[in-house]
Amino acid sequence: MQIITKKQELQQVVEACKKNHQTIGFVPTMGALHEGHASLVRRAVQENDVCFVSVFVNPTQFNNKEDLAKYPRNIERDAALLSSIGANYVFAPTPEEMYSAEEMNNTFSFDFAGLDQVMEGKMRPGHFNGVVQVVSRLFYLVQPDRAYFGEKDFQQLAIIHHMVERSELAGTFGNLQIIGCPIVREASGLALSSRNERLSETEKQTALGISKTLFASSKWAKEAGATVAEVQQRVIDAINAIDGLEMEYYEIVDQTTLLPTTTFNHAIGCVTVYCGPVRLIDNIKYE
Ligand code: AMP
Repeated sequence: MQIITKKQELQQVVEACKKNHQTIGFVPTMGALHEGHASLVRRAVQENDVCFVSVFVNPTQFNNKEDLAKYPRNIERDAALLSSIGANYVFAPTPEEMYSAEEMNNTFSFDFAGLDQVMEGKMRPGHFNGVVQVVSRLFYLVQPDRAYFGEKDFQQLAIIHHMVERSELAGTFGNLQIIGCPIVREASGLALSSRNERLSETEKQTALGISKTLFASSKWAKEAGATVAEVQQRVIDAINAIDGLEMEYYEIVDQTTLLPTTTFNHAIGCVTVYCGPVRLIDNIKYE
């Protein structure tokens, strides 16, 4: 496995793959890798001739400087994991290699068709601008045939689909296929996240209340006469009743439009909760 830090070198490697008619699978990450990331990489390795992974803590998608500073970083451990599961190339640039000073201020603008006005977009203004800025740049550089994203960041996945299929950037990435992959959880139910590294053992136990409540809500949704509004409120009340958790939002929305829905058909419940200082997200599909 080769670690690449310069865009120019990356482009040379990509060109060589294209010349050899090799298909490229790509997994963008911010590092501090865990089994969730590994599941995406394994699939990319399996389904393509060559697998590229990027490890880049993208400053333009953080609207909280402390969160950016505290984001866990461990490139040696990441590289060892990626090598053990068969990734071929890791692109790990510095922020300066990725962006000019002007770009670092995130002047990027993009028509999200409203997908950025709800949930994470509403709570973290500019966040998805930064995501689209970095992911589009990475797509231009890596020119993947398939790119893999986790359903844990469901709104991000919806926005990437929009970017590739329906936005002003549609068609600019060739025949790129975006592939959503299921959430990987600990045996306890806790959704794996790089931010879990910042939880104490006690906080980790407390955080279990999030997935437990979401799983319970799947049953509540099947009770005779249960409405979306009732289930949504029941989840909010249950999480708020847990000492140490502070709910930011819980919304049951349509899986495509991300707009509030009144039916469980094609619905997903998305939650963001603070556990101590750590902001955790999770979701559950109702179908
Ligand atoms: P991140 O490094 O947090 O930007 O995540 C990189 C990719 O891994 C994103 O597509 C995430 O949705 C995905 N991912 C993160 N955690 C999980 C998980 N627990 N299960 C599945 N995919 C995940």
